[in-house]
Amino acid sequence: MIEEDAAKSEIHCFSDASTTGYGACAYLRHITKEGEVKCSYLLGKARVAPFKMITIPRMELQAAVVATQLVSVLERALKDFLPANTATHYWCDSMILDPYTDDDGIVRIRERLKYSTTLTIDLKHPAILPKTCNITNLIVQYYHRLTGHSGRGLTTATIRQNGYWITGLSTAVSTVIHNCVICKKLRGNTETQKMADLPAVRLEPATPFHYSGMDCFGPFHAKDGRREVKRYGLMFTCLTSRAVHIEMLDDLTTDAFLNSLRCLIAMRGSVKSLYSDQGTNFRGAQTELKKNLAEINEELHKNLQKMEDLNDPNSHPLTPNHLLHFKSDVCLPPPGDFKDADAYSRKQWRRIQHFANVFWKKWRLGYLQTLQHRQKWTDEKESLKVGDIVFVMDANPLRNQWKLAKVTEMIESHDGRARRSKLTLGNTQLDRQGRAIKQATEIERSLNKLIILTRV
Ligand SMILES: [Zn+2]
Repeated sequence: MIEEDAAKSEIHCFSDASTTGYGACAYLRHITKEGEVKCSYLLGKARVAPFKMITIPRMELQAAVVATQLVSVLERALKDFLPANTATHYWCDSMILDPYTDDDGIVRIRERLKYSTTLTIDLKHPAILPKTCNITNLIVQYYHRLTGHSGRGLTTATIRQNGYWITGLSTAVSTVIHNCVICKKLRGNTETQKMADLPAVRLEPATPFHYSGMDCFGPFHAKDGRREVKRYGLMFTCLTSRAVHIEMLDDLTTDAFLNSLRCLIAMRGSVKSLYSDQGTNFRGAQTELKKNLAEINEELHKNLQKMEDLNDPNSHPLTPNHLLHFKSDVCLPPPGDFKDADAYSRKQWRRIQHFANVFWKKWRLGYLQTLQHRQKWTDEKESLKVGDIVFVMDANPLRNQWKLAKVTEMIESHDGRARRSKLTLGNTQLDRQGRAIKQATEIERSLNKLIILTRV
């Protein structure tokens, strides 16, 4: 194939495209000293057209890119066998796009704008670049920064305006934006995980506010005489019936919360379980209530010890029920089988009991079924890992004042998926040696309050 006595050697690469595919093939052309011409086939590559329809000129450009890749492979493989002055010619019958190699070895498009006197060479003949290449990546990153971390549209347009024709530019720009830490800080979305199964307390019939959730909202500016004061709302929501009870808080202290809780219990009856986030006032109240409970238990324990002295084998043990109800047995509601006819019963208690049963039947058949479907967060997502750097969303609307943090532990739910994580907040106060002055702050946050910046 390689002619020893060739006076001149040339590589000719042909590329073309159609609606079904595109490709390129390369030939070696020798001209002997006697003027005889010999051609031999070197290499070819064909690809089928993508499912997503693209225009023929664009396909022809893709074919031209394949041609340049083919020649680059051949030049590397044959560099020891071909003379140094071997010329390379590219051939295509493109209707619009017509690549050529300039004096610096850059493949450019020979476009119809070549007679323009106002455009620079970069604009008249944009350089063709593949989408997966380090230089392409650097060019895209540069223009993305130059546009002030704009979105895909503006970054793409700026690159085109500066004379680069990158195949698959949209994908290349999307990849750069997807990995850009500053863009994630500016407009990244928070993490999600597939929605957890509902807890048993939301699926069992129970009296209103027996199982409740709560959270604070506000502040609201209110008038107290001539003073302007801040007031907050405390919302209790019944986990079974979704009923809502709102109390007003003078401030976010433990005392104000305990007062509101007492109001709720006085008006709506006892609360067995209360769910909340990790608000400071809620945690303070929890500590206070636990302390009070410990004191009651201690008192009870002392009294029981006194009772033991009686040493009567027939006496019943003293339980908290005796103190709360002053009765030894739990009083259950009157039993009975209630039918439709009870709706018209002359006995009021039977009518009430019947309607209560109708309510819970409708609750089971109507409302409970609506909880079956997950409204959002339907897909399982890749979990955060220990060591990931995240941006912690907080109540401050100024996004650039949110704090950076490092994930130190993932807390798994009962289904094995992690929806909360423990974090160490970033510390900006360092001494001259770069060591943190203050002890690092540890916090715990739900996944939907975190924006991932970098993964380990
Ligand atoms: Zn960016």
